[in-house]
Amino acid sequence: MKNQNDCSLNEKLSEISRRDFMKFCGIVAASMGLPLSAGLQMAEAAKAKRRPPVIWLHGQECTGCTESLLRPTHPSFEHLILDLISLDYHETLNAGSGHQAEAALKQSMKENAGKYILVVEGSAPLKDGGKYCMIGGRPFVDIVKETAAKAAAVVAIGSCASWGGWQSSSPNPTGATGIPEVLKGTTVVTIPGCPPNAYNFLSTVLYFLTFGKLPALDEKARPKFAYGRLIHENCERRAHFDAGRFAKQFGDEGHREGYCLYELGCKGPITHANCPSILYYAGAGTWPVGTGHPCFGCTEEAVGFKIPLHTQAEVSQITPAAAHAPIETAQGKGMSAGAAGVLGGVAGVAIGAGAMIAKNLGQSDEGE
Ligand code: SF4
Repeated sequence: MKNQNDCSLNEKLSEISRRDFMKFCGIVAASMGLPLSAGLQMAEAAKAKRRPPVIWLHGQECTGCTESLLRPTHPSFEHLILDLISLDYHETLNAGSGHQAEAALKQSMKENAGKYILVVEGSAPLKDGGKYCMIGGRPFVDIVKETAAKAAAVVAIGSCASWGGWQSSSPNPTGATGIPEVLKGTTVVTIPGCPPNAYNFLSTVLYFLTFGKLPALDEKARPKFAYGRLIHENCERRAHFDAGRFAKQFGDEGHREGYCLYELGCKGPITHANCPSILYYAGAGTWPVGTGHPCFGCTEEAVGFKIPLHTQAEVSQITPAAAHAPIETAQGKGMSAGAAGVLGGVAGVAIGAGAMIAKNLGQSDEGE
């Protein structure tokens, strides 16, 4: 019987067409600031190479990262993820459990030593010998260290794994710690977010698979293509910020008009992430600010779960907007109350490319 790992992408892509996959890789390359030729290289590499084995560990977390990755609106995306990688061990998705699952983990580590990607979701509790998160009778932190020692690359997915997340909020009773801190001396790519965006994870994996190295990282080991700009620079409500039009209360006229949420506590001016550009899977408006809620800074260690949700951000410097959404107020053009936000979302699509992925896949699937 053929081992799952031996199947090429050609054999595995059951839900999306080759043309869609080529498009997808082109868009991923563009969103990473790479030339179109890199997209072609990614598509070729993904088809030709053996799918990278992935061991996915869960520590202290809510499993929201996994849920977010596997439950986007468009079903093709979860297949892209599962078809690009060979998920050898994942405590949420494992078919087996108990000793059977542990045996699968050991077998993958042995067979793929030095070749597998370790993905860690959740923080590690370091207090009291790590006893607050035990798996198979062992402290989670010990399992992370042992698994990382034989990994080709380590990815901390989500804010909890990246720097401790909500469990590390004061008083941090378990000593919740991010994986980069646990694995000091090892490069740990961090993809923070609560939840993180699946596009950023998939783009990182595709880049690694194609070029055999990690994408450029910032000082917190976040991929620069995803965390290089402030949310405020690409936000669809930025024109309102610049014009001094702010929502003062949830549900007031300004809020209904799609005005800037800064005075309601938006942390977009101090938070680096590409949420407004790539959105969350379903097109215009599918990100917190797009739904009318302030950004709470989940990708920044010093902001998310540290500064209260509705406390205004201290902004020391305002970087210029990358582009302006063509926002009109309801009074001016007779638009519906939510129209400004929708228009802004359309501008966000133009700025980035990620939202087009779901759109393109959706259109194609419908048409074929
Ligand atoms: S809603 Fe937030 S991110 Fe958007 S313009 Fe206002 S302060 Fe900036």
